Amino acid sequence: TILFDNGTHKNVLLEDVSSGLAVQANQHVIVDGASGMILDPGGHKVYSKVLAGTMTQLGRAKLEKIFLSHQDPDIVAATNGWLMTTDAVAYVSKLWIRFVPHFGLDHLVLDRLLPIPDQGMRLPLGSAEMLLLQAHFLHSCGNFHLYDPVSKILYSGDLGASIGGETVEVQDFDAHLPAMEGFHKRYMAGSKALRAWVKMVRKLDVQIIAPQHGALFRGPAMVERFLSWCETLQCGMDLLDDELQLPA
Ligand code: FE
Repeated sequence: TILFDNGTHKNVLLEDVSSGLAVQANQHVIVDGASGMILDPGGHKVYSKVLAGTMTQLGRAKLEKIFLSHQDPDIVAATNGWLMTTDAVAYVSKLWIRFVPHFGLDHLVLDRLLPIPDQGMRLPLGSAEMLLLQAHFLHSCGNFHLYDPVSKILYSGDLGASIGGETVEVQDFDAHLPAMEGFHKRYMAGSKALRAWVKMVRKLDVQIIAPQHGALFRGPAMVERFLSWCETLQCGMDLLDDELQLPA
């Protein structure tokens, strides 16, 4: 699925290659001129298909960057393969720099795993500049989203993720809610983190919010519905009991 293409800059959602017990995941590729980037490439089960799909989309462009929103296996497990087969550098929160190597990183590629500072950073891609935005505790404590100012797509990682709802694009927000609600209440750390994130995102011109699982939100009205839902959602620590129960 081509989400944006102006001739020199394109944003592609790769064909869904998920199967079996592994949770469905979206892989996104951004190409600007001769420079390419893959977001949250995923684990071993999808590695060869995602690599092939990425190379097809890149054409003559080169894979220069890999963005890892956080440390979960569905995102980082195949990092070694990506670094071994390409010359790309990978970016992950500085909190996870010493944990990702446990998935097996050859020492040849260790210096191509680079830390994102807590406050986020700007990352050049071709003639464009991506924003790596803080999204800590949504859900990982070292968590980033990527905003592309050319396509105006906000890649939101696990935030906005849905399981078993609409597949590519949300048409009916209310009907889609049940596919998001349970996941967000349990996996997102709390309403304070969500409200702070919404305040930051409202400073950007966002046309699409593209999560790592399930359907994306397209257009200002749908983006606004999602942001206002995030603003009031009680989740994580908000729902924690004052006293924990021992197992029955
Ligand atoms: Fe995750």
